Amino acid sequence: MARRRTRTSASKARSTGNGLDWSGDDGISHWGGGQRRPCRICGNPAFLVDDNGRPCHKVCAETEARTAAAVAASIPA
Ligand SMILES: [Zn+2]
Repeated sequence: MARRRTRTSASKARSTGNGLDWSGDDGISHWGGGQRRPCRICGNPAFLVDDNGRPCHKVCAETEARTAAAVAASIPA
């Protein structure tokens, strides 16, 4: 008799530690208005903007945030 197990992956935790939440749920729109402008980090055309409204890729911002966190952690207070 084959029993079927239904696996419900209810653990859809939002990753706030590793990635940025640019979904707009926090009231901040990261949509740059449909025009591509040079990313402030890598210089390639980006549709999105960062928290300050500057053109930026989400991945670039995440990399920057991680780097900043790592740098901050390595600097003794
Ligand atoms: Zn970029």
